[in-house]
Amino acid sequence: MKKVVKFGGSSLASAEQFMKVGEIIRSDKSRRYVVPSAPGKRNSSDTKVTDMLYRCYEMAESGQPYNKLLNQIKERYNEIIRGLKLDFSLNDEFETIRKHFEAKAGSMYAASRGEYLNGKIMAKYLGYDFIDAANVIQFDSDGNFESDTTDRLLSERLASSECAVIPGFYGSMKNGTVVTFSRGGSDITGSLVAKAVRANLYENWTDVSGCLVADPRVIKNPEVIHTITYMELRELAYMGASVLHEDAIFPVRKAGIPINIRNTNAPEDDGTMIVASTCRIPAFTITGIAGKKGFVAVNIEKDMMNAEVGFCRKVLSAFEDSDISIEHMPSGIDTMTVFVHQNEFEEKEQTVIADIEEAVHPDAIELESDLALIAVVGRGMKSTRGTAGRLFSALAHAHINVKMIDQGSSELNIIIGVRNDDFEDAIKAIYDIFVVAQL
Ligand code: ASP
Repeated sequence: MKKVVKFGGSSLASAEQFMKVGEIIRSDKSRRYVVPSAPGKRNSSDTKVTDMLYRCYEMAESGQPYNKLLNQIKERYNEIIRGLKLDFSLNDEFETIRKHFEAKAGSMYAASRGEYLNGKIMAKYLGYDFIDAANVIQFDSDGNFESDTTDRLLSERLASSECAVIPGFYGSMKNGTVVTFSRGGSDITGSLVAKAVRANLYENWTDVSGCLVADPRVIKNPEVIHTITYMELRELAYMGASVLHEDAIFPVRKAGIPINIRNTNAPEDDGTMIVASTCRIPAFTITGIAGKKGFVAVNIEKDMMNAEVGFCRKVLSAFEDSDISIEHMPSGIDTMTVFVHQNEFEEKEQTVIADIEEAVHPDAIELESDLALIAVVGRGMKSTRGTAGRLFSALAHAHINVKMIDQGSSELNIIIGVRNDDFEDAIKAIYDIFVVAQL
């Protein structure tokens, strides 16, 4: 049994958190490959080391004095080293970092030092090998991630290491230039390592006990999802549920390795299993609810629209020409509606409308703004009669007007459009009928 364990920033923000992590790793011999993030926030008013590094480099690059901030960063690490009672110093590392800052090594290099240094401490603390991600995670000269080369380098290197720490978030180009993934990218590193060592499980340790059925800012103490499929997770993540970096799913999904989201502060909790498929009956009819505010519906009307071949294509080209992506497109006989993001559309609305006018000569174009989309996702919906009926009667009882309905043919999700103002109430009504009522 081989497990890859990734720990997020809040799990490694202080010596106290490091000790919890140490205990978790030592309690299971199969936890052989560790991917740390940089130290995160110790409390809500704290700053992540990654953000401090970006800021520090910005100051260095623009010729402002940056030593004070660099010393504060160093102190964050020294506090951890002292708390763990390690006989270890990062003085030389910080000298090297200072030199690289002077030589303008780039903000990606700067940010990557957060995980690099945390990885150094972690390796020392656990007695594991330290493997610099720059040597095993590869990007091409344009900064695009190279998955095949990385997989080869990682698996070759890790084959000769029984237990190792590989810092998350970064890699390098062939010439050694450090490149980072986008923010939250240590999740991706964990997934790549899991694939390379053919792990049985990729454990992703964070500060919540798994994926939640609904956003805790809307629903107080929502239930934890026990098992979710990659497909369901994609649907929820797309609609704003943030659990993992979205690119972290693909490497392990391809290799058939499940992900287990766990809580460093409550290791006794099972967390959430993310799997390719499962015969487990979900606890509730729905697996999760997620949603986003800030959409505009563009309603286009034209008599006999149905008889005009190419009508939709011409309308959609008007959006494409302005580089606007489309969320949903419900249509009737003589009407079609296109849902777009309000912030993307606002600036370009007049161009898009003029282009639609010219392309299809509609009878009317109406815009409705301040709309929200909510996705109700669940593999269990397919086999349950009456899900849509219950959903819409719950919304009607809550006096919520449904503006749009879209059920994918996979029956994995139902998307509804409501007014922004009704967003929270709609989610509460859906949660009540499918979760609270089933408890
Ligand atoms: N430390 C990086 C960030 O704050 C990467 C990560 O934590 O995954 O985005």
